[in-house]
Amino acid sequence: MARQNTDNWSVRKCAKACAKCEKDFEDKETLHSRLSFDEGEYVRKDFCEACWNKDDPGLSSWKTVFMVPVQQEEAVKKENAESLLRKLVAKENEEDLNAIFILAVMLERKRILVERDVQTAEDGRKLRIYEHRKTNESFMVVDPELRLTELEHVQEKVVILLGGKPRNAEPESGESAI
Ligand SMILES: [Zn+2]
Repeated sequence: MARQNTDNWSVRKCAKACAKCEKDFEDKETLHSRLSFDEGEYVRKDFCEACWNKDDPGLSSWKTVFMVPVQQEEAVKKENAESLLRKLVAKENEEDLNAIFILAVMLERKRILVERDVQTAEDGRKLRIYEHRKTNESFMVVDPELRLTELEHVQEKVVILLGGKPRNAEPESGESAI
């Protein structure tokens, strides 16, 4: 059985046009996103309402609304949960999986990400698919199914990565990390 590689968790951008008729999506158009596992890679395809074949949902599919991509704000401010998630995902280090998961959960609570699906990978790992509410990118995140004690440890690590201070220290002014 093929070992699932780090490609399990990565970002798939929403297409700008329908995968079938190639018509550009319009702002706020309803579309269907389909995720399939193709030659060892997760492939995301987006279809307009007319081209969507509900009998071929792939591995996972969901309905979403296309939004004209917004310009990313200048990243001069300090690291936030979203920029850190993107950075860790891009690094593709297996040891960051726990932190990536915690960040995805934080962003879900902040209503920046929405969970679209949960799957079980071939090796039994749980895979959660999140979609970014503003950019419609999909993030595939391995759920490390942490125990409560591990969870606290990882959360503390993430707070420090975000420039905060571990518990028992004076909270920094401004928004708290979690
Ligand atoms: Zn179409």
